[in-house]
Amino acid sequence: MTTLQAMNSAPALADTDLGRDLITVTTRPDTVFVDGQGSWLTDEGGKRHLDLVQGWAVNSLGHSPVVIAEALARQSRRLLNPSPALHNRPMLDLAARLVGLSCFDRVWFGSSGAEVNEAAVKLARRWGQRMRHGAHEVISFDGAFHGRTLAMMRASGKPGWDSVFAPMPAGFARARFNDIASVERAITPASVAVMIELVQGEAGVNLADPGFVRELRALTTERQLLLIADEVQTGIGRCGRAFAHELFGIEPDLMTLAKGIGGGVPLAALLCKEAFNCFAPGDQGGTFGGNPLMASVGLAVVDTVCQDGFLAQVRQRADHLARGLQAIVHDHGLVAERGAGLLRALVLPTDTAPQVVAAAQALSPVGLLINAPRPHLLRFMPALTISDDEIDQGLKLLRQALHATMG
Ligand SMILES: *Cc1c(COP(=O)(O)O)cnc(C)c1O
Repeated sequence: MTTLQAMNSAPALADTDLGRDLITVTTRPDTVFVDGQGSWLTDEGGKRHLDLVQGWAVNSLGHSPVVIAEALARQSRRLLNPSPALHNRPMLDLAARLVGLSCFDRVWFGSSGAEVNEAAVKLARRWGQRMRHGAHEVISFDGAFHGRTLAMMRASGKPGWDSVFAPMPAGFARARFNDIASVERAITPASVAVMIELVQGEAGVNLADPGFVRELRALTTERQLLLIADEVQTGIGRCGRAFAHELFGIEPDLMTLAKGIGGGVPLAALLCKEAFNCFAPGDQGGTFGGNPLMASVGLAVVDTVCQDGFLAQVRQRADHLARGLQAIVHDHGLVAERGAGLLRALVLPTDTAPQVVAAAQALSPVGLLINAPRPHLLRFMPALTISDDEIDQGLKLLRQALHATMG
């Protein structure tokens, strides 16, 4: 105990401190959230918060939407999990829906983004063994975030992440985002795939350059490399289209989904074209993969997002939010606003984003929840169902928080 405490730079927690029974992995505000409805979260003290984070773009339909509550109630009374080795109807239906909605032919379900990204790397390596004489190396990009398993920390381009839990899995190489020459330099005979977030979320909503994406698609095809799109954050309507790659006019070979497809529950998917459907039995699996409870939620989310006019409304709300944020850039002397659909960011002139986040949450009587993935950057990932009124309220609260922090 003493040794462990000495190793920890944070002071020992008092008995009354919130979260004292949890392994410390992050600092959380001193508040317990008890209720969520749509774009609103209520804490134990009864204070309401307008939520523009939504569990990091997870609650695509907002907090506790009726369609998800009903799907969970209905399915939980029928069948929770027969076994991943048996067919169940929601899994088959959701796979069919995703195939119909996308350019892909096959789906495997998992429970988290990191898990399906690893599955994508495994599938690429399997294909490399069969078709490319054992090519296995995956090229990923500076700034990318692909998850927190060892291999995905290695694939991520966060500074320091490839050594913090050394030794890390081998077989990954790095290129510079939006720099096609750097991709060409990274390619060796061992390369089998390029993995990319077309809009880098955690790195600060960095958009790939459309010309770069087209060149990358052409280069990977020419060099017989799989193009893997990590759409864990961008998929299922977040960027105003079913999938962000549609914005770039390209088709990846593999795509991963998580976050928004589950609408708040653990659901993730790997999709591939038929040519890459090459796992051998036993290569891939997972106890919870494709369970009907989560799949029924995925169906409710996908059906909602596919309703006539839903994505057009997301694009309209995104324009509304973007215009409001641009006005704030102008009025508060900020650097820039950017984004795709309802994944947007504000670039601040100073490293004050964490203070703005804290000030926004502390506003009274209503708090505002926003996110600072970088010290100089605020990120907004509201529910796809947020109303124009709620966007206006959020912009007003944001102005107050900026005023409190930056004057
Ligand atoms: C969140 C995220 C992941 C990791 O997903 P988990 O469900 O947390 O494992 C991977 N890639 C991207 C682009 C993400 O945003």
